[in-house]
Formats: sequence, C-alpha cells, structure tokens
Amino acid sequence: MATQARHEGLHQRTGYSRITQEHLTRLLATYNTLRFIDGLEPCVYCGMAANSIDHVPPRVARATLVAQGLVARYPFIEVHCCVECNSTLGARPLWTLGARKRYIKQALRRRYGAILRLPNWTDAELAQMSDRMRDYILDGLKVRDFIEARISF
Ligand SMILES: [Zn+2]
Repeated sequence: MATQARHEGLHQRTGYSRITQEHLTRLLATYNTLRFIDGLEPCVYCGMAANSIDHVPPRVARATLVAQGLVARYPFIEVHCCVECNSTLGARPLWTLGARKRYIKQALRRRYGAILRLPNWTDAELAQMSDRMRDYILDGLKVRDFIEARISF
C-alpha cells in the first residue's frame, strides 16, 4: 500500500498523469511505422519517413516573392517532409529551410513537452512497480526517445 501511494505521488509529480496509455500507444505505433519505411527518404526536418513534399518558401508566398524580386534571396525548393511536420508548417511565412527547421523543433518541444519531461527510472524502481505501471513508463520513455531523436535530427 505504501508502495502504491508512493507511485501515485510520483505519477502526479512527474507529469505522467497528463499522458494516457492510449496516447502513448498511438504515438509508439506511428513512430515504429515511420521509423522504418523502405524506399522513403527521411523528413528533412525530423528524420521520420517522409510521405509528402514541403515547398520552401510555401507556394502561397511565391508570387509575392517573385514580384518583389526576392527569389535569389529565398530560392524555391521542394524537400521531403513527414505529414506531421508538413501540417505543422502549413503556409507559415517561414521562407528558408533553416527557419522552418527551427520552427519545427520548437513546435515539437511544445507539443510533446510533458513526454519530454518524463524522468528516467532505476531498475530497482521499475522492479517495484505493477506490470501495468512499468509498461506504461517504458512506453513513455520509448516515445520520449523518438521525440528527442526527431528534435536533434
Ligand atoms: Zn518531420
């Protein structure tokens, strides 16, 4: 009982309570899929399998850039991009690859802040937990590792 109460305290203190097992399971399934797709290039922003194309600068801005003579400064390119990064960027007025990449890193840090803050656990601590709690924590740490890899890509 004391152990149970201690785990519940840790649960709340570390932010786990805001992350559901369903959310972790869904993210793990997505990342396990997007990590290894033969024949797909990596997303230029996060390294996951890219199944879309991102236009840099965004297409909606291109006519204006042409009219203002800014094409030499903001060359038009197309890059491989995962769906999440593509929809995160949308038509935001970020006209260079570097600006778009910085925006993505910030967006991932914000979106997955609670997961990124998950603490490490010792083997002794994990051994004292219920199977369900341990699985939940290990899933959370796997997702955290994926997100860290995307941010540091
Ligand atoms: Zn991406």
